[in-house]
Amino acid sequence: MNNKIWLSSPHMGGGELNYIHEAFEQNWVAPLGPNVNNFEEDLRRYLSHDVEVAALSAGTAALHLALIILGVKADDEVICQSFTFSASANPITYLGAKPVFVDSEPETWNLCPKALEEAIVDRTARGKKPKAIVVVHLYGMPAKLDEISAVAHRYKIPLIEDAAEALGSTYKEQRCGTFGEMSVLSFNGNKIITTSGGGALVCKTKEQKEQAVFLSTQARDNAPHYQHSQIGYNYRMSNISAGIGRGQMEVIDERVAARRRNHQFYKDIFKDMDGIKVFTEPNKDYFSNHWLSAITVDEGLAGFSREDLRLVLEKDNIESRPLWKPMHLQPVFESAPYYGGKVAEELFNIGLCLPSGSSLSDADRNRIKTAILNLKSI
Ligand SMILES: *Cc1c(COP(=O)(O)O)cnc(C)c1O
Repeated sequence: MNNKIWLSSPHMGGGELNYIHEAFEQNWVAPLGPNVNNFEEDLRRYLSHDVEVAALSAGTAALHLALIILGVKADDEVICQSFTFSASANPITYLGAKPVFVDSEPETWNLCPKALEEAIVDRTARGKKPKAIVVVHLYGMPAKLDEISAVAHRYKIPLIEDAAEALGSTYKEQRCGTFGEMSVLSFNGNKIITTSGGGALVCKTKEQKEQAVFLSTQARDNAPHYQHSQIGYNYRMSNISAGIGRGQMEVIDERVAARRRNHQFYKDIFKDMDGIKVFTEPNKDYFSNHWLSAITVDEGLAGFSREDLRLVLEKDNIESRPLWKPMHLQPVFESAPYYGGKVAEELFNIGLCLPSGSSLSDADRNRIKTAILNLKSI
């Protein structure tokens, strides 16, 4: 059996171990220390916008804190893009608040501005004005940020940007992760850079960052003894993980370039195949890191289905995956309100993510290409 080709593997740059050794030598083996501070600074500089960054244990933790800092409470409603990974929606329920799911538009596969407005108007008419909006940049593709921000402003609802998949992507040359009132990054093992597990909350003000750090370190009041007047969390990033992050930030531009080359590789393979569309930026305003390369398969035109392709790849030990199953179709969110049509649902039915790691070798790419072309000739 051939080696497994994964969808998206961790890809170390080489510098990570130096920062980890330094942490051991100085005994900063704790959820605080120089790597944490410097990793935050690296991110702040990379985002090159007026932001503050708090490094945390996960992107999910960052979303949870974003909702708390924006004042979301039990029984509040929060709008969330339906077409996403469950981690975008789960933290809403941690607070006893209720997600209201909204469909995507077909160009970026992200939050549809029209359906968003419809949801806000209807929820408000029912006496529950949404407390926040969670927009996602799926697979690294920036959402329609101008239109979405305009709706958010019009109704004065804060925007939370789930940029977990979009570090390195830009919209009108501004980095994803700097558009929201709060934005979330993830450094899970499968993301474009990793700290093995980790995330960050990107805030607009120093006060917001201080609040995030305070809440993420058990909400200790300023006293010599342990004094608490709020519920806290254990969400700070470890100084060892942050060392990995510092090494990864040294190679982020290369990682983005490699993922974008994979995207071009798939465009080249599929350009002459009927019925296959490679998910691509709608125009020059959008620059995707192409975290995952994805396609849609029109079975009538292609002569094979998404599932045929997935199984043929699996047979050669090549991992591929259907697109995210929309949250409004998940059993756990059965009773949540939903606004929009069937864009996300249709994408889920016909879409596939292909191996996209920045460490794919030429031999890996050849195997993938051969498997795909074999299918075409069946
Ligand atoms: C990965 C991911 C998250 C969660 O990040 P973790 O660091 O794994 O907690 C949230 N939203 C989206 C869209 C993601 O892909």
